[in-house]
Amino acid sequence: MADNDRCVFCDIVAGRADAYKVFEDEKSMCILDINPWTKGHCLVISKRHVPWWHDLEEDEVLSLFRVARTVARRMMATLSPEFVCLYARGRRIPHTHIFLIPTVKDDALDRFFNALEKLQESPPGLMALRDGARMEEARRLLGGAIPPVP
Ligand SMILES: [Zn+2]
Repeated sequence: MADNDRCVFCDIVAGRADAYKVFEDEKSMCILDINPWTKGHCLVISKRHVPWWHDLEEDEVLSLFRVARTVARRMMATLSPEFVCLYARGRRIPHTHIFLIPTVKDDALDRFFNALEKLQESPPGLMALRDGARMEEARRLLGGAIPPVP
């Protein structure tokens, strides 16, 4: 059984499941999230089943972010948020999707990220990561050769 045999996003792309489709191009599709944080909360999904966004081919990445920008501009023009929040996870549905969420100060998502940033700045275990030697080690690890796409 392939990974995508029971994947809801693959079903949506194939037309086997319903979705509120907003926009699409050849490689990506934007749909409304059925559990929105705010009015117009969307997901931009790759049309190919790839669990993590960083494993997409370059043309798929370009498509994903081009579709995200197109819809974000529509959000700005029609919904008038302060800005459009973008993030990617994929733990619940391991098929590439990025979140596009029109946001304003003190909405639920804004409060969530404010709380997360407070947490990021306070625990001793995280503060230790700011040490110069550890920062330099991280910079060295990330500044090396680019691994191939799996
Ligand atoms: Zn899938």
